[in-house]
Amino acid sequence: MKLFFSSVFSGSDWLDNVLMEIDENGMIKSLISNSEKSEADKIFSGTCVPGMPNLHSHAFQRAMAGLTEIAGSGQTNFWTWQKVMYQFLSKLSPEDVEAIASQLYMEMLRGGFTSVAEFHYLHNDINGNYFKNPTEMSDQIFAAANISGIGLTHLPVLYAYGGFDCIKPEDGQKRFLNTIDQFQLLLETLKNKYRNNNLTKIGVALHSLRAVSPEMITDAAALAPEGPIHIHIAEQIKEVEQCMAWSGQRPVEWLLNNADVNERWSLIHATHMNEAETRTFAYTGAIAGLCPTTEANLGDGLFPLEGFFNQKGRIGVGSDSNTSVDLTEELRLLEYGQRLNQQRRNIGANGEGTSTGENLFNKSLLGGAQALSQLVGILEPGYRADFILLDDNHPTLFSRKENFILDAWIFSCGRDAISDVFVGGNHLVKNGRHIRQESIEKRYRSTIKFLLN
Ligand SMILES: [Zn+2]
Repeated sequence: MKLFFSSVFSGSDWLDNVLMEIDENGMIKSLISNSEKSEADKIFSGTCVPGMPNLHSHAFQRAMAGLTEIAGSGQTNFWTWQKVMYQFLSKLSPEDVEAIASQLYMEMLRGGFTSVAEFHYLHNDINGNYFKNPTEMSDQIFAAANISGIGLTHLPVLYAYGGFDCIKPEDGQKRFLNTIDQFQLLLETLKNKYRNNNLTKIGVALHSLRAVSPEMITDAAALAPEGPIHIHIAEQIKEVEQCMAWSGQRPVEWLLNNADVNERWSLIHATHMNEAETRTFAYTGAIAGLCPTTEANLGDGLFPLEGFFNQKGRIGVGSDSNTSVDLTEELRLLEYGQRLNQQRRNIGANGEGTSTGENLFNKSLLGGAQALSQLVGILEPGYRADFILLDDNHPTLFSRKENFILDAWIFSCGRDAISDVFVGGNHLVKNGRHIRQESIEKRYRSTIKFLLN
């Protein structure tokens, strides 16, 4: 298949009149600028940019949108939100998860995310028992990825304890729990089932330092000698204080001292770091998985972006709790949080004369691709044909060129400027609508009706 675009941002260069050839596996075969339209099977007039890997999602939480914004009698914070989340899980069936994840992944595509790392810790039935099929819940995530067409890096999560020092889990955590043996069985079953799919990848995740023992970190890494490893870390001040009380070290400090953190790792949030942690983390080449809308929604705090960039730290973005599902909102809030805090502008830019939007977009593409361990994030031969089209005729983007289009899209517009989305060469969103939107939404509505009544 040959597609023609009047303008392409490859991830490093701006190209005009581009002919993109996509092979039968959905990979880019060639990308040639200054080409003729007549050679193409299909012609697009908008600006083509790489689709964004979403490096952190808990799909089922999308169904909680709008249900956790009520003030309580005392202080409402992350920990009170977590209680609502646990209650929500008391009804959720595997079929419900598939319906919610399908709706979410479709929305991600419409919001500019063309692949997702699903940090999957919902393993057990509503009573906390293992399903007969160890991959019962994971299967729903793969099915949803397949229905929506999004690229998937599936990260089954090891979750064993209720807090630091291996304390007993509370009742609300019973659907998450695995022994290391059960986790091994889950991983092996997954790898046998889903081995040969060029849109999917399997990694591992550790829920947090609160939920696993130090030995389990070593054991889980040994079970997955290759592929991504993700962990939630230093999201909340209370977590930092508890880690200090347990080990005498801060969470990121402890992890860097006790695990072989390298380019396979993504440290999700890493919000609360001192300068030494920020520097040492950046040197590892691991990814900081930033989830600005969720971190704002939960009142987590602000990541030390400028210090991390100064040390050449690598970032990616994720929609995490999926309170909002729009790539531009993540990038915009990432920058605005820093501006509000430091009372300066363009903190995410790469020096004088550079575009903030382009730099944040570009860094998140590269970091996201590394975090998902997929050949995406750049439009070049050998990479998967994951890209989105921005509507040049949209009033907010109109008459803008190159990085001004990215800045207008990210800061002033958002997802309604996305007209078309391709993943692995499949044309999934056409003129703003997903090709299976009607059936996915219908099923989602009936699921929500059941869950909320
Ligand atoms: Zn998370």
